[in-house]
Amino acid sequence: MADDCLFCRIVNRDIPADVVWESEDVLAFRDISPQAPTHVLVIPKTHLRSLADASDQDGDVLGKVMLAARDVARAEGVGDGFRLVVNTGEDGGQTVFHLHAHVLGGRGLTWPPG
Ligand code: 5GP
Ligand code: ZN
Repeated sequence: MADDCLFCRIVNRDIPADVVWESEDVLAFRDISPQAPTHVLVIPKTHLRSLADASDQDGDVLGKVMLAARDVARAEGVGDGFRLVVNTGEDGGQTVFHLHAHVLGGRGLTWPPG
């Protein structure tokens, strides 16, 4: 837990969120500013600043985040077609520095991203 971390505070239920999926290690909740009909954030419950800061020991929880994203997409009815985004670092568009995967779906998604 990082005291000044927004997503750690959501994990601790200090800040409310629309939680859609939870396990011992992973939490998923709706993005406050959805960019698609389905827009859910999947996070490890333990604080990890970004993918750039991940170590080889984080592989287990990162795998759990990926599989949770699969389950969230299925539960949202977009399991056959969705996008998983992990913005990393300021140049990667990351604004909240607790690693999270965006699950986006429910509309046609274009490429390349902005
Ligand atoms: P990033 O830009 O770091 O990849 O994504 C951060 C995401 O967190 C953004 O899509 C933003 O809308 C979302 N977000 C920021 N503050 C909150 C909040 O308090 N609650 C929820 N549910 N999402 C938030
Ligand atoms: Zn955190």
